[in-house]
Amino acid sequence: MLTVGVDLGGAAISVLVLDEGDERLGGATMKTPPVGGERTQVLEVMEAAVHAAVDDAGVSLADVDAVGVGTPGVVIDGTVGHASSVPGWQERFSLREGFEGRVDKPVRVVNDVTAAAVAEHRMGAGVGNDELFVVYLGTGVGGGLILGGEPYEGAFGGAGEFGHTVVEVGGAVCPCGRRGCIEAYASRRSLEMAVERAVNSGTDTVAPALVEKHGGGRLTAAILREALDLGDPLIADLLDQGVDALGAGIASAVNLLDVEVVVIGGAITDELGAPFMRRIEAAVLPSLFSVPSRVKLVQAELGDEGGALGAALVARG
Ligand SMILES: [Zn+2]
Repeated sequence: MLTVGVDLGGAAISVLVLDEGDERLGGATMKTPPVGGERTQVLEVMEAAVHAAVDDAGVSLADVDAVGVGTPGVVIDGTVGHASSVPGWQERFSLREGFEGRVDKPVRVVNDVTAAAVAEHRMGAGVGNDELFVVYLGTGVGGGLILGGEPYEGAFGGAGEFGHTVVEVGGAVCPCGRRGCIEAYASRRSLEMAVERAVNSGTDTVAPALVEKHGGGRLTAAILREALDLGDPLIADLLDQGVDALGAGIASAVNLLDVEVVVIGGAITDELGAPFMRRIEAAVLPSLFSVPSRVKLVQAELGDEGGALGAALVARG
């Protein structure tokens, strides 16, 4: 059985082709149309990326049995909504129907971090553990759950919205508009917003100069690391707050669910690596209820391919 996995992100659409032996045969990555564009443009790029991935794998679309799509947002029965990072994805619509019409294959739709959790469980850092919590630290903060060996999506598709777990009542404003969410402290986007506020109020930091040096775009995870390596006090302070928020949030999730393993991935984790993992672990420990705890915190193993791999696995049904 051949399946195609599509990982739809705010910046890129990654697609790969997987055979029944979990072998990756080929793939393709294309840019996501920017916010402000049309939903049909996104579907067009997804379709083009599927064709490019199939070509790269040296197979034909006729050989593919099913397509899985991992998407940001809350997924219910093939529909998706509440995703602000992709144009046209805020209002609920049937992604399954929309994409089946384009690729003429059965399409399964899954939340992107749930897809990554499926992949880490099957072939990554979570192999052998059936109670798994996956945290992704990127533009936002995402969560995915494997409970009893199966992806857990909740009664209404909204499980795993870890980024909007409140760690400080009345705290910092989150990109979602609410206050005190983990995402308000520990996401690339919130760090970028905090740097902007600090610069506007006259705080000294190397961050704007580094952004300029890298072409004047976003405050990326790589730039965060560079600023940290240079000993920038503002970035160090903001990351301290992010680590504290993550520690409280992850410990609360472990207290609630009693998972075996917490897998931490995403661009910020990939960039900051083992020292960052150790700091998160240290921040989690004081808030764990059940001590000594046997929960393990591990770094994700599949990098930015986790989402597409998981989507291809979910496509098998
Ligand atoms: Zn929020």
